[in-house]
Amino acid sequence: MFRVKLGFTTLMRLLWVILILNKIEEELQNKLYKTQIMIYLDNNATTKIDPRVLDAMMPYLTDNFANAASTHKFGVAVNDAVSLARKSISNLIGCETNEVFFTSGSTEAINLLLKGVFSGTKERKEIITLHTEHSAVIDTCSALEKEGAKITFIPVNSNGLVDLEKIKEAVSQNTLLVCVMYVNNETGVIQPIKEISEIAHNAGAYFMTDATQAVGRIPCKVDELGIDMLCFSGHKFYGPKGIGGAFIRQRRPFRVKINPLLHGGGHEKGIRSGTLNVPGIVGLGKAAEISDKEMKKDEERIKELRDYLESSLLQIEGTSINGTSEHRIYNTANIRFNGIDSDALIMGLDDIAVSNGSACTANSIEPSHVLTAMGQNDEEAFSAIRFSLGRYTTLKDIERTKVEVNKAVLTLRTMTQI
Ligand SMILES: *Cc1c(COP(=O)(O)O)cnc(C)c1O
Repeated sequence: MFRVKLGFTTLMRLLWVILILNKIEEELQNKLYKTQIMIYLDNNATTKIDPRVLDAMMPYLTDNFANAASTHKFGVAVNDAVSLARKSISNLIGCETNEVFFTSGSTEAINLLLKGVFSGTKERKEIITLHTEHSAVIDTCSALEKEGAKITFIPVNSNGLVDLEKIKEAVSQNTLLVCVMYVNNETGVIQPIKEISEIAHNAGAYFMTDATQAVGRIPCKVDELGIDMLCFSGHKFYGPKGIGGAFIRQRRPFRVKINPLLHGGGHEKGIRSGTLNVPGIVGLGKAAEISDKEMKKDEERIKELRDYLESSLLQIEGTSINGTSEHRIYNTANIRFNGIDSDALIMGLDDIAVSNGSACTANSIEPSHVLTAMGQNDEEAFSAIRFSLGRYTTLKDIERTKVEVNKAVLTLRTMTQI
């Protein structure tokens, strides 16, 4: 009876439906697979936006689109949201709201601070910094050297830490500012910035720090640490990309005199003209608020995972840590795999996002300037991998990374033996 009713066309239609359903399921599986498979251990390069940050931003990308500088009530409402974000940042770093200046990120903030202070002060010409700084600092210093600045680089030890005595010897009446990053992006090494700022202040110089890897991740209070200027970036602590800012001390005795880089509408008290990136600023504020509350919890969880990963990987023969273990941020493990080319290892770790921190220029690949500054030769510097964990790293990620790295190292070592 059944067989009679089921004609040929109906059968074909049924088959067709089954085929389509299969195809849809396959696509879905593919998608799930693709999003699940990436293990992201490159949080020092950038972080995934926190969904709560995205939610906070959404109204300012849609209905609340008014210009924060407009005087109608829609503009005023948007400006209130900017003020709230400024408050969240000032809470996070422990400063006054009038000391927070929004920029497009840390690179711009570093340029503003270094160039703005240099051109704002005539009496002192020297900037003291480290070879292990981010290229945003080093390259800006090089640019200022052409404008007549004297740039003094202080060497670091093989563990990445700076010798305070060497800074003491270097400072003089000509020192305009000492610029030392808080947390190194490649090794995670934490410099003794409170002590460095004291040395700078005793010489009548400003103290500036690139705190991009610190703000939102570890406590970073400007008064406790004696910071006169710092920069931060939203995308390094689960906020959006393209937004960040500078802290510029407005209180004595180290009130900073600064000239703007950008001229125009006089936004940000004339320090940074340009229509405010309101959705970005709101997201940045939300990210700061979340970090302020959850920093400790994040640290405990991430540190446990990082320590586990690190101790597992150190069981592989011919491995060592780059950077001191006592003064290092909880999310970073920079590990050297002797005799292994880091680019080959990164390629071997297909689905795992890690970094070797080496800068690729047009046609040559330079070894990490941070590791060579720590006294490593090119071969040593080329065999380092940076694992940087974050809020969304899971134990499962670490378990798989451990297995995959072991496998890849073994394969590469067998290949080079042949
Ligand atoms: C990422 C980073 C920067 C650059 O920040 P952007 O906001 O991306 O310009 C500068 N310094 C350090 C230490 C960083 O990690």
